[in-house]
Amino acid sequence: IGGPLQRSTVKEYGAELLARSHMVFELQAALDREPQHGALIAHYQPQVDYARGTLIGLEALVRWQHPVRGMVFPNSFIPLAESTDKIYQLDMLVLEQVCRDMRAWLDVGLPVVPVSLNFSRRSLLHPQVIGDLQALLARYAIDGSMLEFEVTESQLLETGEVVAPRVAQFRALGARIAVDDFGTGYSNLDAISSFPFDRLKVDRQFVHGVADSDKVAGLFHLIQGIAELFKAELLCEGLEEEADLAWLAQRGADRVQGWYFSAARTPEAIVRILTVLRERTPDAPALTVQQL
Ligand code: C2E
Ligand code: MG
Ligand code: MG
Ligand code: MG
Repeated sequence: IGGPLQRSTVKEYGAELLARSHMVFELQAALDREPQHGALIAHYQPQVDYARGTLIGLEALVRWQHPVRGMVFPNSFIPLAESTDKIYQLDMLVLEQVCRDMRAWLDVGLPVVPVSLNFSRRSLLHPQVIGDLQALLARYAIDGSMLEFEVTESQLLETGEVVAPRVAQFRALGARIAVDDFGTGYSNLDAISSFPFDRLKVDRQFVHGVADSDKVAGLFHLIQGIAELFKAELLCEGLEEEADLAWLAQRGADRVQGWYFSAARTPEAIVRILTVLRERTPDAPALTVQQL
């Protein structure tokens, strides 16, 4: 083959493949470490009910503490884990950490709130997932109702093996199901109505700037209507601006999550937050940004 351009493209492609397989190798090594080693660790982002001024939940978001590259965010390794069959091991590792953390928090009397986990479609449909989940709930004495499983709209509604029976098995254990990144898939209403879900998470593209854009506001209203139709709880993600919060609150969309309140925090930081909340009196004013 020809000129310098093509030759360098081939070279780059080769380098990319090499980097990718090296990353898969490193990811497997991280997955096989003792969970307590913490190479893969979930941080937690607070979810708040703004009107009531309460912490209503925490979302577990995995991070990879890479020895050389530092903290690596999930968008650069979750797709790799999904395409190489390692995602189940990863999602279960996070699930186990969540159960272990909750048990530790309960044991010292902290006011524990439900935790949401992100689950890939593959993990949701894995043949062992219900048995493994039941075993973890028993081992750490955690009630299924303390967990919520978030699956992105696009993965949930992918055609293929039907998810409805599996969703029902999760809910039979008391766990909740959330449709994540809602509005970014095909929003196939017929497909969505084929199984029950508990929460609809509005993707940040319909939250960020909602106060300034008629188009974003219109789309937000549509999504809010869909949540009402399906009797699902609405939670807005990616809230960064006070103006957007005020706009949402005026429309009764009080459940929010985003950097305005807090980014994802280490488990140690969550212990500090829960400790502060334990000391709050019932008539204390609404949660402030500083309290999270
Ligand atoms: P997601 O579940 O939609 O999580 C929201 C993402 O937005 C998180 O990114 C979060 O840190 C970020 N975020 C939160 N608040 C704000 C905000 O106010 N503004 C902006 N711009 N971003 C905000 P993160 O942690 O990098 O996670 C990315 C995605 O990776 C998640 O999207 C989720 O789909 C996936 N993921 C994370 N942890 C896991 C896991 O344990 N298993 C699986 N299967 N997927 C995971
Ligand atoms: Mg999520
Ligand atoms: Mg999301
Ligand atoms: Mg997302």
